[in-house]
Amino acid sequence: MEPPKFLADHMNGDIARWLRIMGFDCEYPPPAATDDEILTQAERESRVVITSDRELYSRARRRGLNAVLLVDAPLEQKIAKILKDLHIETLYGTLSPRCTACNGELERVHTLDVRDQLPKKLMRTFRYIHRCKRCGRLYWEGTHWKNIKETLRKIASNL
Ligand SMILES: [Zn+2]
Repeated sequence: MEPPKFLADHMNGDIARWLRIMGFDCEYPPPAATDDEILTQAERESRVVITSDRELYSRARRRGLNAVLLVDAPLEQKIAKILKDLHIETLYGTLSPRCTACNGELERVHTLDVRDQLPKKLMRTFRYIHRCKRCGRLYWEGTHWKNIKETLRKIASNL
């Protein structure tokens, strides 16, 4: 199944970050983007609109766009709702993480190739890490990894 692509509205930056961690292509509009611009981008790039705004949701649906309306709930429940609404629960855990900062794809790089950007300690711990193809940000399984795993586990338990 081809995973859907997403466009989160301004209120859902945290959702965008988590969808990216889970490997979904989720764009986030620039701060000045209007609702019209958000809908136009979603239409042009065939993206599912993620919004907490009833009005924006209705407008998206009237334009024939796929959209998910999120109500106030814990993060893991919101993410689970998105997967369930779109019937893509089976994609959970199957995709490679994307850059949380810019939504770029990650590539595996040898630590020697990025040694000038890495603390020495990491050079000793890892032989390979991941780098965003778009913005160059580096990723490794650091101390925050346990928290990420914990949230992913909560998401899975809501599916
Ligand atoms: Zn990036």
